[in-house]
Amino acid sequence: MERKRIYLSSPTMHGDEQRFVQEAFDTNWVAPLGPNVNEFEKELAAYTGCGYAAALSSGTAALHLAMILAGVNQGDIVLAQSLTFSASVNPACYEKAVPVFVDSEQETWNMDPAALRLAFEKYPHPAAVIAVHLYGTPAKIDEIRQICREHGVPLIEDAAESLGATFKGQMTGTFGDFGIYSFNGNKIITTSGGGMLAAKDPALVERARFLATQARDPARHYQHSNIGYNYRMSNLVAGVGRGQLLHLGEHLARKQEIYRQYRDAFKDIEEISMNPMNPDGEANNWLSCMTLTPGCGVTPEQIMDDLAEYNIETRPIWKPMHLQPVFAQCDFIQAKEGLSVAQDVFDRGLCLPSDIKNTPEDMELIISLIRRRFGK
Ligand SMILES: *Cc1c(COP(=O)(O)O)cnc(C)c1O
Repeated sequence: MERKRIYLSSPTMHGDEQRFVQEAFDTNWVAPLGPNVNEFEKELAAYTGCGYAAALSSGTAALHLAMILAGVNQGDIVLAQSLTFSASVNPACYEKAVPVFVDSEQETWNMDPAALRLAFEKYPHPAAVIAVHLYGTPAKIDEIRQICREHGVPLIEDAAESLGATFKGQMTGTFGDFGIYSFNGNKIITTSGGGMLAAKDPALVERARFLATQARDPARHYQHSNIGYNYRMSNLVAGVGRGQLLHLGEHLARKQEIYRQYRDAFKDIEEISMNPMNPDGEANNWLSCMTLTPGCGVTPEQIMDDLAEYNIETRPIWKPMHLQPVFAQCDFIQAKEGLSVAQDVFDRGLCLPSDIKNTPEDMELIISLIRRRFGK
C-alpha cells in the first residue's frame, strides 16, 4: 500500500466556508458580484488595514490590474525582484513592458535596497517597482518604499505569499501604492483560486472593479471606452474566502509552530540554515525553507529525493527570473559582483513540507529522514 502523502502546503477547510457558500446557494447568489464578494473585500480590508480591496479571480489578475493602474505601458521598464514566482512579473509583460531584475539581500531573501538604488541609476525612469515578501518573510519594505518615493515611481507589493505577515507592526500588502494577495490552493488561506487588489485610494480600487468586469461604461446600452477583463471573483468563491479568513489566525500559529520545530530540530547540524527572519517584522511562515552550506557534501536534491521516497512533497526554491529562458534578454542588477544572492539561495535551498495538517508523526518522520542524511 502506498504511504500517505505529506504535502508542502495544501488547503485546510473548517466548515465555516460551507456556511457562506450555502447562503449563496440558498439566495441564488452564485454569480460574480454578491454579498459574499462585498463582505470578503470589507473583511480583508479591515484585517489588513489596506484601505480598500477588490476581490478578483487570481493574484495574477490583481497584479495585472495593478500594472494597468500604475500606468505601465508598452516599452516601459519595470524593476522587479528576481527571486520570486513568475506570476510576479508576467503581468508586466502582458502590458509589453520590459522587466529589469533586481537581486535579493541575504537577510530576508527579498529585493536588495542597495541593488534597487543601482537599478535606478541605470534606469532612472521605470514605470513601476515590484517587490515581493517571499515565503511570507517581510522584505525591507520601508527602505524600498523610500527609494520609490524619492523617484516618484509606484510600488507594487506582491504579498501573494505573505497574508498576515507584518513589518514594524504593519501588515504586508499595505506599504505599496498597490498590494496584491493570492488565495490559490497552496497559499496560507485559499478560495481554491482567487486574489485581491488592495490600495488606499478608493477611486483606484473602484477603477479595478470596473476593469475587472469588462469595463462597461455607465450607459444603458453596452458601451466601452476601455479594454476590459473578466477578472472578478465569484460570490461562491468569496464565501470560501470569508470562511477561511475566520481561521487565518490558527493557520498563522500553526505555520509558526512548524518553522520553529524545524529550526530547533536542526540546531545541531551546522550545515543547515533555516530561511532568514526579518528582525523588524513577523513572518507568516507560509513555507519553511532551508539552505545547505556549500561543499558540505549534501545537496538539496538528495534531501528532496530522500523525502520523495516516503511520499513527502518538497519544492526547490523559486528559480530566479534572471535565470529563466523566457527572460534571457532581460538585464539583472546586483549590489556586489560575483554569485548573486538570488542564485545562491536557489542553488543551496529547498522548501520543506509546511502543511498545517502535518501530524507530530509526520513532522518526526520528515525531521528524522533529513537528520539521517547528515548521519544523525
Ligand atoms: C501565488 C503567487 C502569485 C500568483 O497568485 P495566483 O493567485 O496564483 O494567480 C503571485 N506572486 C507570488 C509570489 C505567488 O507566490
